[in-house]
Amino acid sequence: MQNADEPAQSVPTLAPSRERKSAVTAALRVVLPAECILSLDEELRPYECDGLTAFRQLPMAVVLPHSEAQICEILAICRRLDVPVVARGSGTGLSGGAMPHAGGVILSLARLNRILELDPVARTARVQPGVRNLQVSEAAAPHGLYYAPDPSSQIACSIGGNVAENSGGVHCLKYGLTVHNVMRVRGYTIDGELLELGSGALDCPGLDLLALAIGSEGLLMVVTEITVKLIPRPQLAQLVMASFDDVAKAGEAVAAIIAAGIIPAGLEMMDRKATAAVEPFVKAGYDLNAQAILLAEADGTPDEVADQVVEIESVVRAAGATAITVSNSEAERLRFWSGRKNAFPAAGRVSPDYYCMDGTIPRKNLGRMLKAIEEMELTYALRCMNVFHAGDGNLHPLILFDANVPGEWERADRFGAQILELCVQLGGTITGEHGVGIEKINSMCVQFSPSERAAFFAVKKAFDPVGLLNPGKAIPTLARCAEYGKMHVRGGALPHPELPRF
Ligand SMILES: Cc1cc2nc3c(=O)[nH]c(=O)nc-3n(C[C@H](O)[C@H](O)[C@H](O)COP(=O)(O)OP(=O)(O)OC[C@H]3O[C@@H](n4cnc5c(N)ncnc54)[C@H](O)[C@@H]3O)c2cc1C
Repeated sequence: MQNADEPAQSVPTLAPSRERKSAVTAALRVVLPAECILSLDEELRPYECDGLTAFRQLPMAVVLPHSEAQICEILAICRRLDVPVVARGSGTGLSGGAMPHAGGVILSLARLNRILELDPVARTARVQPGVRNLQVSEAAAPHGLYYAPDPSSQIACSIGGNVAENSGGVHCLKYGLTVHNVMRVRGYTIDGELLELGSGALDCPGLDLLALAIGSEGLLMVVTEITVKLIPRPQLAQLVMASFDDVAKAGEAVAAIIAAGIIPAGLEMMDRKATAAVEPFVKAGYDLNAQAILLAEADGTPDEVADQVVEIESVVRAAGATAITVSNSEAERLRFWSGRKNAFPAAGRVSPDYYCMDGTIPRKNLGRMLKAIEEMELTYALRCMNVFHAGDGNLHPLILFDANVPGEWERADRFGAQILELCVQLGGTITGEHGVGIEKINSMCVQFSPSERAAFFAVKKAFDPVGLLNPGKAIPTLARCAEYGKMHVRGGALPHPELPRF
């Protein structure tokens, strides 16, 4: 079953023949120095997966260009020889977006890692895609500025990867996601067409292709330069940590904070399994008796912070908080955050493997979702720790499993898919910030109708008619959805009931 609107996606799953590999690497050697091309198995191994290690594939080759000109040469060769191209930043993605194709090239942007211009007056930075997220804030710090989107992986992840995934972080509730903090993007299509999207102003004429490019998961263009907004560091920030004896009450407290008209700089939640894993590792000072804790940050001038702390305290107390602590120094604030920011590594300490899910639901449903996840833990006989960007309704259930125990990965996979389906049923989405990649491609069949997916393919085709940029990711084909056995469900009713389900 192939939809006419779907681009002919060549997704090689078998290793290329020796002749094919030599032809491609020979062509690349003409335009790149030898040190920029990796093709031996042991050299390719570090690139076989991203942060989603359950899916692995060696690429045909990896190229590590130093310049935009070299990127153009690489794209021209891949286009001519019909070679799929997967752009890669730091490889911290959690949805398999940068996972290679067997017959494709990984285009690493790691060496394009310079901050080209930092303008403290315009409050912008123009950076290459391989610049690390935290590097931007470090460079802006002497000017009292910083780059607001702060994924927990910010020490390692690249701005190019952030753009491709429209990444979020703890402070995005108040300051916006990547899409709200990027002004301009420059890059190339597989046909070598230069695209300059956005402008130095708040808006620009024409269709908003900048917003389209942000979050497009490497399917439309290779991003080679990004202009980001910088904002002033708040004079003060203080964190309110509230304990709850029931996860549903903590969820309701989140909804109550927002309903009270408070927009904290960050509003995060961790359940008891998460705090229990984190505390011995980070010693953040969390209440281990609480079934859930909320972390709510107030920032601004000292007066604004003092007022907001009082407001938050009063709302969480009314919502049933059993204990409230307010950070009394910058060191303590950072210590409270460090536990949340290290939740994923902490999961890695208590379980051989973990599967990090990423879905979004309306905030009012947080409690309901948590109860449902508890039931799923029994169904699948697996533990699940929960951390949330609660203010955004963005869930990160961490399903703990051991890939060496037969059947555990399969159960974890089904557990994750059921969480995402529940997100859709509760009026949410199957991804909050980690992207679709290959991980959630089947769940796309649940979220979107065939005509919606056809529209996505039409956009893909407009930028990449031959389907060579990151093929097989993010948008499922009709055939794939049919195989998954699910079509779009709305109001509990399956459309096209006449179609066979597999
Ligand atoms: C411990 C941990 C914590 C995390 N916390 C968060 C979090 O709080 N919030 C969040 O949003 N994410 C989080 N992530 C996920 C991840 O860090 C982000 O998705 C990040 O933006 C990926 O950046 P990267 O440079 O590693 O990209 P990669 O993993 O290398 O690539 C990601 C995608 O971007 C594409 N891509 C990369 N560079 C380019 C380019 N120049 N042009 C076109 N396409 C490109 C790739 O093809 C791929 O599809 C976390 C990951 C880990 C491991």
